[in-house]
Amino acid sequence: HPAFDVNAIRRDFPILQERVNGRQLVWFDNAATTHKPQCVIDRLAYFYAHENSNIHRAAHALAGRATDAYETARETVRRFIGASSTEEIVFVRGTTEAINLVAKSWGAQNVGEGDEIIVSHLEHHANIVPWQQLAAEKGAKIRVIPVDDSGQVLLEEYKRLLNDRTKIVSVTQVSNALGTVVPVKDIVDLAHRAGALALVDGAQSVSHLAVDVQALDADFFVFSGHKIFGPTGIGVVYGKRAVLDAMPPWQGGGNMIADVTFERTVFQPPPNRFEAGTGNIADAVGLGAALDYVSRIGLANIARYEHELLEYATVRLGAIDGVRLVGTARDKASVLSFVLKGYTTEEVGKALNEEGIAVRTGHHCAQPILRRFGLETTVRPSLAFYNTTEEVDRMLAVVKQLARK
Ligand code: PMP
Repeated sequence: HPAFDVNAIRRDFPILQERVNGRQLVWFDNAATTHKPQCVIDRLAYFYAHENSNIHRAAHALAGRATDAYETARETVRRFIGASSTEEIVFVRGTTEAINLVAKSWGAQNVGEGDEIIVSHLEHHANIVPWQQLAAEKGAKIRVIPVDDSGQVLLEEYKRLLNDRTKIVSVTQVSNALGTVVPVKDIVDLAHRAGALALVDGAQSVSHLAVDVQALDADFFVFSGHKIFGPTGIGVVYGKRAVLDAMPPWQGGGNMIADVTFERTVFQPPPNRFEAGTGNIADAVGLGAALDYVSRIGLANIARYEHELLEYATVRLGAIDGVRLVGTARDKASVLSFVLKGYTTEEVGKALNEEGIAVRTGHHCAQPILRRFGLETTVRPSLAFYNTTEEVDRMLAVVKQLARK
C-alpha cells in the first residue's frame, strides 16, 4: 500500500524501539492500551511549557491559550466522529466514566421500576456494572443479547428482547475479548423503533474503523483516549444535543454552573454542565493531537492494513496443533483470543514475554463472554497499525515451540 508505510509509522512511536529481555519489544496489547506517537508526547510537553493554565476563568494570556487548546481539541473530537456540534462532546476520564455518567445522569431520570436495560453478552465490565447498579437502585432489569458460537450477537434474539419497557440498549461496537465487530447500526435502529435510546461503546472501535455518529444515529457514543494513541485519563461522551440538554448534571462544582446562591444553582448548558471542576486539560489537548495523527494516516488505510494483518495471524495461529481460537465471527477487528492445550494462559503469556512479546492474559474484564465459551481466561494478542507480519511470526514461533513440547 503506497498510502501506508508501516516502517515510517513505526518511527513515529519511540517505545517500539524499547528492548525487553534483550529483544525488541513487540506490543500486542493494544486492546488494553496503545502507544503514543512522538507528536502526542511533544504536544503534551508544549502545553506544559507554553500554555499551561486553568481554563475559562481568567482574563490573562495563558488562560486564553489553554482554553483555546482545550476547545480546539473538542472540535477535533467532533470532526473525528462526525458530530454536528461541539456542544455534543463532553470530556471525561475514559469509557468507564463515560458510561457511569450516562447511567447516573440519564439513567436516574429515565429508568424506573420494571424498566429494562439491554446489553450484549460481549460487554466489558464497564458496560455491565454501572447498569447493574442502576437496575438495583431502581428495580429495573438487565436483559442480555446472546451470541452464537462464533461470538456474534444474535439479532433475532435481540428483537425478541425489545419491548415497551426497554429504556436503553447499550452495546459495544467491537468486543475487547474476542474482536467481534457488532452490527451496531442495526441494533441502534431497532432500539429506536422500540422507543428506546442506544449507547455504543466505542472503546475498541474508534482506533480500527471509521465512525460517523450521525450515520450511526446512536444517542450516546463513548470512547477512551488511551486506546487511540492518546493519553490516559481522558475520554469522551458524545451525546445528541437534545438528549444531553434534558439530562441533569451528575457531579456538582465549579465550571458547570451559570449562577450559584445558597438557595439554588443554575447550571450551564452541555457540555460544561457535565464537566464539573478542573478537567484533564493537557490530556484533552493530547487526545486532539492523537486524533489528528490518526486522521493524517486515514482510518480506511488503517482498517485495510490491520484486516490483512489479522487475517495473516488468524490463519497461522489457528493452524498450530493444540491452539483453540475463541471468537471466530466473520467480521472482526484487531483481537485474537486463544488457549493452548497443555498450558495455562499465564504460562503462554510468560513464554511470550521472555521473547519481548507483550500480550494480555486473563479475563479481559469481560468474564461473562469468556464463560459463554467455557473459559475463565484466554491469551489475547491485539493488533494495531504499527504491528507487522514479522512481529506476528515472532509470536507464532513461540507458540509453535510450546505446542511441540
Ligand atoms: N469498554 C470496552 C469495550 C473496553 O475494551 C474497555 C477497556 N478495556 C472499556 C470499556 C473501559 O475503558 P477504560 O478502562 O479506558 O475506561
